Amino acid sequence: MIIYQTEDCIVSLPLPLFLVVEDVGWWQGEDDSAVHGPFRNRFPRRHCLADYQALTQLSERLSMRIAIGMVLGEWDRNNLLKEITGATWMGRDWENCLNQGPWLEETAEYIRENEQHLELAVHGLCHEFWQGGQAQRSEFHDSDGRMRSKKIVTDHLQAYAAIMEQNGFSSFPRIFVPPALHHSFGNGEDSMQAVLRDFGIDYVTTRFSRTRLYSPPVHEKITWECGVTLLERGVSPVCWDEVAAVPRPVGMNPILALHWGNLLHPDPCRSSEIVARWGEHILTETTGLGRILSVDAADCWRQAAVFYLADIQIQEQKISVNLKNLQAMPSLCGHFSLKIIGGHPEKWQCLGAQMVITGRDHSIVSVKLLVEPERHRIDILLH
Ligand SMILES: [Zn+2]
Repeated sequence: MIIYQTEDCIVSLPLPLFLVVEDVGWWQGEDDSAVHGPFRNRFPRRHCLADYQALTQLSERLSMRIAIGMVLGEWDRNNLLKEITGATWMGRDWENCLNQGPWLEETAEYIRENEQHLELAVHGLCHEFWQGGQAQRSEFHDSDGRMRSKKIVTDHLQAYAAIMEQNGFSSFPRIFVPPALHHSFGNGEDSMQAVLRDFGIDYVTTRFSRTRLYSPPVHEKITWECGVTLLERGVSPVCWDEVAAVPRPVGMNPILALHWGNLLHPDPCRSSEIVARWGEHILTETTGLGRILSVDAADCWRQAAVFYLADIQIQEQKISVNLKNLQAMPSLCGHFSLKIIGGHPEKWQCLGAQMVITGRDHSIVSVKLLVEPERHRIDILLH
């Protein structure tokens, strides 16, 4: 979004772009939804360590700690899910021996060692909810966006934490990605956000048009309740079951939602070709003034909040950015970025924030504004 333009200078507040990969974590590839089993990735083989290495490769190419929406049911080492109502298609007979092998520890260790590249996000135990042998969409909400009972939701999230612990993942994720986009918002202490907050979740991304809204969002693309911020995910540019997908335009939302199989090749040795293609595509889509790559979820949520909610005033050679609309959510305050062509940003004076040049790409200079604590108004004097 161009916020200032003269003959020799353009200043843009860019929309962030952050990658969230959904449905990571299954070991089996088959989609068994037609027989009331789980909706897996419809992938033509078992998953393996190389499928996580491909994600790390993409993270490195983008210099982004990407979020991976994990379904953890098939990581259950002790069959604890037999005790959890509705968690699996086998109910009390849950037996996960098919997925219990050395690959669990090998892959867990790899993910732990690469936490600077891959950030685990909660996507569910097995994605759906089972009752009387029938699968229902989805695990935490029904298909009308009604949250399942607080006890069921809490039991499922506690089981998720227990499976994380079994596999040596120390801290509970701070991101929640609703499975199958069924979610609700706006009913305060009765809300899903109140439950998620108690588990330490800060960020949710989903499609607002598929969410049951008990009260209107703060903005059509971003809102919050109980200390949790929800960000519009938009439509994925690629169908969930498209294997080794060809990159397509990413759309004008802060989140790029892909599914694991989109980034993988049936031959694990060739996934590097797929993620290299996506890496180049995403970098190309963010080189201009309008978009900026996020380094992680917090960076994305903050930049999006400023993009959607900041009040920007221009007076001759001054840009004033008022962040009062973000005050209610401390996690959204901090730094944000601008992109600039021309002018002399290294000479500009900035009140209320420290301005640091973070990159140059041809004629475009990227700057980060490190907002001073408690400051809600920043003045940039362009001379
Ligand atoms: Zn999913």
